[in-house]
Amino acid sequence: MAAEVHGGRAKCLQRLIRLDMPVPTTVALSFDAVRRIAHGWTPDMEALLAPFGEDPLLSVRPSSLDPDWGGPGAVLNIGMNGVRHKTLAAQIGDAAATALYLRFIQSYAVNVARLDAEPFRHAEGDLDAMLAAYEEETDEPFPQDPAQQLSEVLRFMARAWDGTTARILREAKGAPADAGLGLVVQAMALGVGAPESGAGVIQFADEATGAPQIKGRYKSQSQGRDALKGNGAIYLTKDARGPSLEELCPAIYADLVRFGTLARQKLREEMQIEFTIENDALFVLDAVRVPRSSRAAVRIAVALAEDKIIPREEAILRIPPATLNDLLHRQVAPGADRDVFARGIAASPGAASGRLVFSSSEAQASAARGEPSVLVRRETTPEDIRGMHAASAVVTARGGITSHAAVIGRGLGLPCIVGVSALAIDPKSRTVTASGQVLAEGDLVTVDGHTGELLVGQPEMVEPALGEAFQTLLDWADAVRDIGVRANADTPADAETARIFNAEGIGLCRTEHMFFEGERLTVMREMIFAESPADRAAALDRLLPMQRADFADLFKIMRGLPVCIRLFDPPLHEFLPTDKAGLRELAEALDRPLSDVTHRAREMSEYNPMLGLRGVRLGITVPEIYDMQARAIFEAAADVARHGDPVIPEIMIPLVSARREVELVRGRMDAVAAAVRAEKRAEIPYKLGVMVETPRAALRAGDIAESTTFLSFGTNDLTQMTYGLSRDDAGRFMSDYVQKGVYREDPFHTLDLEGVGELLAMGAERGRAMRPDIVLSVCGEHGGSQAAIAFCRAYGFDYVSCSPFRVPGARLSAARLAI
Ligand code: PEP
Ligand code: MG
Repeated sequence: MAAEVHGGRAKCLQRLIRLDMPVPTTVALSFDAVRRIAHGWTPDMEALLAPFGEDPLLSVRPSSLDPDWGGPGAVLNIGMNGVRHKTLAAQIGDAAATALYLRFIQSYAVNVARLDAEPFRHAEGDLDAMLAAYEEETDEPFPQDPAQQLSEVLRFMARAWDGTTARILREAKGAPADAGLGLVVQAMALGVGAPESGAGVIQFADEATGAPQIKGRYKSQSQGRDALKGNGAIYLTKDARGPSLEELCPAIYADLVRFGTLARQKLREEMQIEFTIENDALFVLDAVRVPRSSRAAVRIAVALAEDKIIPREEAILRIPPATLNDLLHRQVAPGADRDVFARGIAASPGAASGRLVFSSSEAQASAARGEPSVLVRRETTPEDIRGMHAASAVVTARGGITSHAAVIGRGLGLPCIVGVSALAIDPKSRTVTASGQVLAEGDLVTVDGHTGELLVGQPEMVEPALGEAFQTLLDWADAVRDIGVRANADTPADAETARIFNAEGIGLCRTEHMFFEGERLTVMREMIFAESPADRAAALDRLLPMQRADFADLFKIMRGLPVCIRLFDPPLHEFLPTDKAGLRELAEALDRPLSDVTHRAREMSEYNPMLGLRGVRLGITVPEIYDMQARAIFEAAADVARHGDPVIPEIMIPLVSARREVELVRGRMDAVAAAVRAEKRAEIPYKLGVMVETPRAALRAGDIAESTTFLSFGTNDLTQMTYGLSRDDAGRFMSDYVQKGVYREDPFHTLDLEGVGELLAMGAERGRAMRPDIVLSVCGEHGGSQAAIAFCRAYGFDYVSCSPFRVPGARLSAARLAI
């Protein structure tokens, strides 16, 4: 019997039978048979009923390929009729027999005959009234023929599988459109009668933590999963709080424990066993995978491998990388009440609550008071970095998956939702409106970066939990993967996180983020406004020791692992204030007239800054900035190497589109290195590489590779430029585009293998043809995803680099691909 033909439940029951567990007589109907039943075919009922003997009582359960796909609920006690009621009454007593009959009529009427539930609720407890209600509603007596009852139940369950709701629910869990349903017909073990009869459920691992533990309940005189609902159930294992099955029926308890161990060994999984005791005899009715949290999933898989029940590779394959995300961040507790205010793009996972604030300065003020805040902005700019640092979560009305807020959110491990287009923010009244509902500054809200929902109030949360099993699983993953994983880390805090998650180095340090910190912003602005080379040099001289300290910190934290530093990238005007108050403050700080500052700021603004004076273009037109950065890098490397591990910094040039750009920068870097070498009397080794972010750089990669040792593909900008699609504005219409099938996915989220991928492949091939030992990597946001990693492996890339919090998922993805 194959799960692909009869479904997972049927397959599992067959294995339990082979393990000699006391499973009642069971017959499985295949997907194909059930499909035909749904279309009106009736199976040969005599043949179907034959294995069950005279006057059978039966249950029918669904059996889909994957149990998570759901299916119609089980129907019990099929075969109950007037005659059976009488014989049963003689065996188990009138009350128990009547209760069973009543229960069956009621469930048949409501679920199978699709009758209104109300009249049957009225008739509860009174058999004559129940039978009369059925006849009243259908103009027919309650069917007495077990074959007719069973055939109707089968038809009902087969059709329920085709219902729209059932279809949508299972497709959301990954079921294909043509997923089939099998049905399992089983002889009932009654669970009612004397001397000990009842039903229960047992499992051997905790569903929240995965720790080994016998859990479940047993209830005398009950059926199915009754023990898990309502009162009257007892513990399974001896417990000071009350009676237990272990004391009531020690031999049966011992059998259950034995079956649990056997099932774990032979089914290679933690199973939950549904059992019934009839007349002191144990029956195993069903077994399903223990439902489990992400944390438990990891612990269970690792324990199975440590016990040599499954190989390590299989443990790795059993954990989808997204599961790890749940472990790294706080979550809204499953089942908690959710009052959804608005929805957007889930840009950075985790959940956090706080008081609503509308500006970075308010977020900082909140943090100073020790109050968590949620920062809501139309969009964030680099100026908001301090506010984002201070906030517990960020929401923007605009932007897509690679917008500033999204990138920084992921880098900081901060829950973030972007592109919440329904949000209308009114900065004057300090309120935000969505679908007619209004929230004001100070209102308590929660960001769920997992679902992309902004919630009113503070639902219950669950804490992140890494644990030993998590580390073990990732160690195993590292042992099999064949592509490197580095982290994108801009600050010492990021670098520490990268180390905790065992990144093999820093693949991208975006240095501009260092200039928004504290007093540096003012010095940076002085540098931007400098009128003479001497003034500019003076400002850069003040920035130098700060940058040197930044890099020294990174080198120390990374202890000899590679650190790839990208030279300054954004357009300079991003460092200038945008509002009047900010400009006034700046004029005061620089001791210049306001009109002068406003004029200069206006002069620097660009129509299309993403394609303007930024990246290497700035490095070539204002080379002193790169000179200062190079000096800071070399001096820091020499200082740190003197006392610790050798440091060979990697310097990366952003937004290159022509080889000559690289040569010009290389000339200056070499000059600075020579100067530092002389001053420090130290070797100053370094590697210079190019960030491939423009289509031209990919096309000309062969030419460019001649003067560089590595190529790192910045797939954020490369996607933006390949599509001609603004990273910061696409969020506004992206969902329309995806819904209408123009794009299969948001290309900023899922690497476009067909278009951008072709540029990557071409760049990699041309670069490698020119320089076979060239190091190739991807450092855009896509780097952490399994699809991008698969692509990179196929083209022989050396490593991917992603946000520190995505490193564990990337390590696992890479291992799964290598297995
Ligand atoms: C990129 O463009 O892919 C990249 C990594 O750089 P940034 O996101 O800083 O533009
Ligand atoms: Mg870029």
